[in-house]
Amino acid sequence: MLRIAIQAKGRLNEKSMSLLSDAGISASGSNSRKLLARAEGLPVDLLFLRDDDIPQAVAMGVADVGIVGLNEVAESGEKVDVAMNLGFGACRISIAVPKSVDYDGVKWCVNKRIATSYPNILGKFLEERGVKAEIHRIAGSVEIAPAVGMADAIFDIVSSGGTLIQNGLKEVEQVFASQAVLIANSNLAAEKRDILSDLIFRFKSIISSRGMKYVLLNLPESALDDAVALLPGMKSPTVLPLAEKGWVSMHAVIAENELWNKIKALKKLGAEDILVLQLDNLIN
Ligand code: ATP
Ligand code: MG
Repeated sequence: MLRIAIQAKGRLNEKSMSLLSDAGISASGSNSRKLLARAEGLPVDLLFLRDDDIPQAVAMGVADVGIVGLNEVAESGEKVDVAMNLGFGACRISIAVPKSVDYDGVKWCVNKRIATSYPNILGKFLEERGVKAEIHRIAGSVEIAPAVGMADAIFDIVSSGGTLIQNGLKEVEQVFASQAVLIANSNLAAEKRDILSDLIFRFKSIISSRGMKYVLLNLPESALDDAVALLPGMKSPTVLPLAEKGWVSMHAVIAENELWNKIKALKKLGAEDILVLQLDNLIN
């Protein structure tokens, strides 16, 4: 049995649950809101925690693995293995200053008061650059600290930057890039390591299929070379003869963001009967 810690509620909860459910692991109905839920599919159970507590829970072995932001792992300083990046929850932690400030590099921070919920990541960054500042640890609403006179600058999570602008701040140093990661206790028993590698295999196949579509179409054989050049697919597209002479059926995987342009080009080459299918897993 492998115990997986995930965020109980918040930004990572929904995507963590849907990744697990795509991997065949779902907490059974009425149980899904409990602190601890038995999942069906793989021999795992789920532990719902605040995200700050997940690195420590995994380091201590209260949970075997966890899904959490890399920022929380780095801030906690806990010794855990980062098993894989999960491709969601992307954000960065940055230094931001009031927009009127004439910021001229990190030495501006010398003797400044900087408010943050990430004192360890900030402390390390400044120390490496020989900058001494006053780091004020505050738990929430970091972005209002400069306006109320609590700080000269902040060090906080940025994703779109909208919150900074609303608070009259500008981002001046991008210090740490984060996304959700799968972390694991570094001393897992062999049986648990087996379940973990199963889990990683499933997650990888799900993540590599994200943003991809499976496309089937019929094409005059004479246009085949041009169409193959257009559709690299995984190795090269699959091509099958059709009963009708001079025509082939072609199968390929296309990235969603270039789907419509490629389809337009394929139609120009004479493609017909184009089917675009959802891709759930891509196993290499
Ligand atoms: P908890 O109650 O579990 O302690 P929280 O309030 O600390 O939750 P959330 O705001 O739910 O945390 O964010 C969880 C994680 O989501 C962050 O640690 C970060 O890795 C990621 N994240 C991605 N984008 C953002 C964003 N714009 N703001 C905050 N966190 C973000
Ligand atoms: Mg938290």
